[in-house]
Amino acid sequence: MSEWQRILREESIATLDQLAEKFGRDVIDVEGLKPAFDNFQMRITPSALEQITAVGDPMWNQYVPTVQELDIQDGIIDSLDEDADSPVPNITHRYPDRVLFLVSPVCASYCRFCTRRRKVGDPEKIPLNQYDSAFAYIREHPEIRDIIMSGGDPMMLSDRRLEYLFENLRAIPHVEIIRIGSRITSHLPERITPEFCEMVKKYHPVYMNTHFNHPRELTPKVVEALGRLADAGIPLGCQTVLLRGVNDDPLVMKELMQKLLMARVRPYYIYMADQVAGGEHFRTTVQKGLEIVKALRGWTSGLAVPHFVIDSPGGGGKVPLLPEYVEEINDDEVVFRNYEGQRFVYKQPHIPVPAAACGEFDSPDIVPIEIGKTPRRKHAARRRKSANE
Ligand code: SF4
Repeated sequence: MSEWQRILREESIATLDQLAEKFGRDVIDVEGLKPAFDNFQMRITPSALEQITAVGDPMWNQYVPTVQELDIQDGIIDSLDEDADSPVPNITHRYPDRVLFLVSPVCASYCRFCTRRRKVGDPEKIPLNQYDSAFAYIREHPEIRDIIMSGGDPMMLSDRRLEYLFENLRAIPHVEIIRIGSRITSHLPERITPEFCEMVKKYHPVYMNTHFNHPRELTPKVVEALGRLADAGIPLGCQTVLLRGVNDDPLVMKELMQKLLMARVRPYYIYMADQVAGGEHFRTTVQKGLEIVKALRGWTSGLAVPHFVIDSPGGGGKVPLLPEYVEEINDDEVVFRNYEGQRFVYKQPHIPVPAAACGEFDSPDIVPIEIGKTPRRKHAARRRKSANE
């Protein structure tokens, strides 16, 4: 057993008893938490435990189950409709040139707001013996150039299994980029071993999308682990989820983004929390997200300003959202305000511009829809058609 596996197994806490022992029975509402523990699994690694400073703080909220998870109002089980775009087990093919490849059913710690909570933790729903059909699907689709390995957390697999995945993907000529979506650096920095870093160098370009939601997650050990990945030539991005009671505050987000850059991680996305069943108490308003982006843009380096997106409920994909800067736009000029609210005018060019450059082109992927009807994506329809041929 590797050292990181031992730490995960022997030093994590997974029961209400262990939680009460760690934080004190006098401060934890053991009876109140019991229904949540009867329904949901929990695991908190030593690294995540170290980040919790008090019961009910932003780090506690991310990992300790509550009865609010049982209160389902607008929540949707598969809120992004990933299963509808799954041509073979473990693959979701939604966008034209990339696929999501679920390679691991488990995570080091379990996040209460997880979009994929319907599957995560269940090896029957993300089976490890279904890689071959996934490889075959990717091989048969030359348009796929980018693989996003996810789960669960891919970094929960052994190096041997990860290398098996890398080897098979690299044997497919049209696969250009491999991405690993992983929260392991925050949960279990010990997993970023020198052996893994050596092994991965053989399969570049390999990117890693990390996941951090609060500046307190960037402990010295975590920052060191990120440094090892960066030294191994892995470009690091970060996906952050906007969560009520965790990071719904412009100052917290600014500190997080700045600390990520210092740890050699480029902030990539801030997501609106998905409309997932069981995670509704984490959701805040879109206005709050726009307020946060407005508090970042211009006030700190552009490198520290990620895209703010909603992943469309029902499977429409990610849509970027921006605060209103433009007041007026016509053929002569654009009137807008800068980050401090000052008004400026940009004169449009007087040299005639071809129509396509003005955005009047006919995109093959845009399908007109009537308000109130479900939009359909042409490439998804095409893919399903070719699969049936
Ligand atoms: S690490 Fe990612 S996949 Fe795992 S529980 Fe957290 S959000 Fe879900």
